[in-house]
Amino acid sequence: MNCKEAEKMIPAFLVKQLNNRDLNEFLMHLEDCPECMEELTIQYLVMIGTSLIEEGKSFNLRKALNDLLSDAWKTVQKWKLLVFASYIVELITFVIMAIILIVVIFV
Ligand SMILES: [Zn+2]
Repeated sequence: MNCKEAEKMIPAFLVKQLNNRDLNEFLMHLEDCPECMEELTIQYLVMIGTSLIEEGKSFNLRKALNDLLSDAWKTVQKWKLLVFASYIVELITFVIMAIILIVVIFV
């Protein structure tokens, strides 16, 4: 993912509308792109920060954004685990089918 693609995803990320695959790529890009991280911080502040400040709530931008990112990472981890589990199930199914086929042909 390049910066242009990442920047386009920021609004969707902030309202948690990214699908898991995009979310994964987006987070990976943010890990080593300080420019997009800064862009995310700015858009987050504009989108969510201002409404919180208007409501008179005290607001720790750094912490709120870190919480949002760590939640997003957890979502991605869960998704990866599910994808991995489905591969395992597929593999087991394949092995069972292969055994049945061998038994049918050779026994
Ligand atoms: Zn970038």
